[in-house]
Amino acid sequence: MASTVIYNSLTTSSTVFLRTHLPILSQYDEQHQSSLIYNSKYYLKKPNFSGQKKKEKKEIYVKCSAAVAESLQTSPATNDVIAGETPEKKLRILVAGGGIGGLVFALAAKKKGFDVVVFEKDLSAIRGEGKYRGPIQVQSNALAALEAIDMDVAEKVMDAGCVTGDRINGLVDGISGNWYVKFDTFTPAVERGLPVTRVISRMTLQQILAQAVGEEVIMNESNVVSFKDDGSKVTVVLDNGTSYEGDLLVGADGIWSKVRTNLFGHTEAVYSGYTCYTGIADFVPADIDSVGYRVFLGHKQYFVSSDVGGGKMQWYAFHKESAGGADQPNGKKQRLLEIFGGWCDNVTDLLVATDEEAILRRDIYDRTPKFTWGEGRITLLGDSVHAMQPNLGQGGCMAIEDSYELARGLEKAWQTSVESGKPVDVVSSLRSYESARKLRVAIIHGLARMAAVMATTYKPFLGVGLGPLSFLTKFKIPHPGRVGGRVFISPAMPLMLSWVLGGNSEKLEGRVPHCRLSEKANNQLRRWFEDDDALERALSGEWFLLPQGNDAETLEPICLSRKEDEPCTIGRVSHEDLPGVSVALRSPQVSERHARISCKDGAFFLTDLRSEHGTWITDKEGRHYRVPPNFPTRFHPSDIIQFGSDKKASYRVKVSMTSPNLAQNKQNAGVLQTV
Ligand SMILES: Cc1cc2nc3c(=O)[nH]c(=O)nc-3n(C[C@H](O)[C@H](O)[C@H](O)COP(=O)(O)OP(=O)(O)OC[C@H]3O[C@@H](n4cnc5c(N)ncnc54)[C@H](O)[C@@H]3O)c2cc1C
Repeated sequence: MASTVIYNSLTTSSTVFLRTHLPILSQYDEQHQSSLIYNSKYYLKKPNFSGQKKKEKKEIYVKCSAAVAESLQTSPATNDVIAGETPEKKLRILVAGGGIGGLVFALAAKKKGFDVVVFEKDLSAIRGEGKYRGPIQVQSNALAALEAIDMDVAEKVMDAGCVTGDRINGLVDGISGNWYVKFDTFTPAVERGLPVTRVISRMTLQQILAQAVGEEVIMNESNVVSFKDDGSKVTVVLDNGTSYEGDLLVGADGIWSKVRTNLFGHTEAVYSGYTCYTGIADFVPADIDSVGYRVFLGHKQYFVSSDVGGGKMQWYAFHKESAGGADQPNGKKQRLLEIFGGWCDNVTDLLVATDEEAILRRDIYDRTPKFTWGEGRITLLGDSVHAMQPNLGQGGCMAIEDSYELARGLEKAWQTSVESGKPVDVVSSLRSYESARKLRVAIIHGLARMAAVMATTYKPFLGVGLGPLSFLTKFKIPHPGRVGGRVFISPAMPLMLSWVLGGNSEKLEGRVPHCRLSEKANNQLRRWFEDDDALERALSGEWFLLPQGNDAETLEPICLSRKEDEPCTIGRVSHEDLPGVSVALRSPQVSERHARISCKDGAFFLTDLRSEHGTWITDKEGRHYRVPPNFPTRFHPSDIIQFGSDKKASYRVKVSMTSPNLAQNKQNAGVLQTV
């Protein structure tokens, strides 16, 4: 291990040369420091500012990481190995960027015994969800790579995460909430002996990684501005003028990578066409036990919700518009309620439950994959070379896979060097890593783009997006694209998922495929995939009828009982003589005994009791029909039930984990309406 070598090499002055980014050099006199600097092979170059004050110099010494301190003690680079001598495993790896990619790679390299330094310009500003640092989905493929890198770290990540892969995930229609395609991420994981997908807070993930890498390896407030590769070493320069040398440089500095720009020149990132609002709400949906995450599709807009554990839901709202837009102060939530106001409850409930301050907005960019990822002793990793749209939740996962592959390649190069007695062939090793990763990353990048295209072109009904022909939407004719798309996606999705989640697993050396006993799916999971009705029956919340429309003020919510022997009778007068609950509605078109609502096997039925003005249902897709008399008719969440035809008492069916707040529902009556 590098650290062992370091501590062995530190004898008398070990207290001074602790590897830490904390200001530890203050005990050390500047003169002594400078002499060490110039005696070192990997040295801290003095900044070349003319007229620089003494105090400024001192600050720079104080800021140096002990990677520097260590470098003062470092033995020659592997390239300097004299033929015939066994080289030490002492490559010094410089990493620009301490995001997910930089830290996972640093961990992997450190575990393999390499000497790593991570330069991070601002540890508190990891690309994520800014202040709120939204959670990130770490999928089976990335968790398995983490296991192969460091089992303890993988365990910590998995313990801290919320398992979503053991439930139904997939695509639904944004307006009706009806399932379009369900994803089975559980089976591919279990079949290949991989961990099941989790969602974890970015901050927690970052903390676990940073702790495992060791603060002595990470130099915070170190902004890499340039570098030089002279063929035998790389010199990295920070914005404060300090510079560091190593055997190679890994640019893991994200989508706006300076390393990439310095290598290949400036290129514009590609705007996805979508701006993305994100938020976290204290909200537990009624299907929390059966659904992990869902993508709600719409025309030129889509919405993603995911359970993130701890009674919280994370959501992303994507809207097609030009980049650079801004909202009125405190106007984000209002805007979203306008854009998504006509969508199903699963969407609007989350928006309503989110505080304005918890909503962030960013434009989504990616970078078209390149064939060339590096040059000489420099390579790129993660978003710096393949930033992708977040639609598959694979950007960070790919950075983790990259990290494993790069560390593995370097170790191989190291072993070859030991066996041959020749210097480590850093350059070939970097090119091999790039070749090994390019194709898989490019395909996943393409799939992420395709997902956005699908959302752009998704149209629930004929007429949507057709301008003057938009009147056709009222006929609710399923759009041929939606129907055809489903025919294509349904069989393609399992193949795609199997490859995305499991396609890298054979490369993970030393990782024994295994399943965790804790990762059990509900024994109904298979049924839920095949049967939407079974999924609805599994809803764990309470069923309510919430008053809506003009007379909402005069009506009270009705709570429905799941007990089969406790039906609810609706009438103009109360019917204490009948079994179950009696609800009296003083509404002009409600008959004395109007209708009965009963529950069977978790499903609810409405029976019209030959009322004069009828009982009506408007379903989630906008179909409006009269319930036949004396015949139990199934109804569903989000349906509208009307007792009477004209001056009716109108209710919306709502399934909720908490008792709905009447005042809030009345206030949001317009927002919650889907038809
Ligand atoms: C809305 C959204 C949702 C997403 N959801 C998921 C998901 O669920 N699952 C998933 O796997 N991926 C997801 N991603 C993608 C994921 O966030 C990125 O792919 C991942 O963060 C890339 O990691 P990285 O280390 O390559 O880059 P980054 O995370 O961007 O890290 C780069 C680091 O480099 C630092 N840096 C930058 N320039 C310099 C410099 N000059 N010197 C020193 N340091 C520098 C930055 O401060 C940063 O810490 C999502 C992305 C978005 C936008």
